[in-house]
Amino acid sequence: MVIECRLMRSPEELVKSFRESGRKVTPQREKIFQILQGNKTHPTAESVYAELLREMPTVSLKTVYQTLHELVGMGEISPLDLGTGSARFDPNQSTHHHLVCTRCHSVKDLYLDIEDIQIPGEQLEGFDAGTAEITFRGHCSKCRTAVSGQSQIAVHQG
Ligand SMILES: [Zn+2]
Ligand SMILES: [Zn+2]
Repeated sequence: MVIECRLMRSPEELVKSFRESGRKVTPQREKIFQILQGNKTHPTAESVYAELLREMPTVSLKTVYQTLHELVGMGEISPLDLGTGSARFDPNQSTHHHLVCTRCHSVKDLYLDIEDIQIPGEQLEGFDAGTAEITFRGHCSKCRTAVSGQSQIAVHQG
């Protein structure tokens, strides 16, 4: 299996590309690019905003949304709906899948070769099936420890 790693372009390249396409580049936007670069947490707009506020207290959530949507439009990041309550954004543009913790909502990238999956023709009814992304739901290692700790306490009390 070949993992083709396609990530968001660097903040410097994005600044150049934004300028070339006539978009405004503000210090806030540049900082958003930096927050997203190499970010593996699959952040929500709110969590990007929270991180941005630490350095730029006057920034608005609207700026964050606008910048994220422009990056989606440019194919630099992907919006994800993983059933965790809010839209998340992924700067990892390679074909990949996700492990989602249903307790803390952490998301981890997963590389799987699913090209060999055979869909029975009678179920496709002429549909030309394209890409597929798999989401596995469960508990991350931290939450597994926490959950088993809780059940031990419950047993003790009971
Ligand atoms: Zn967890
Ligand atoms: Zn991902």
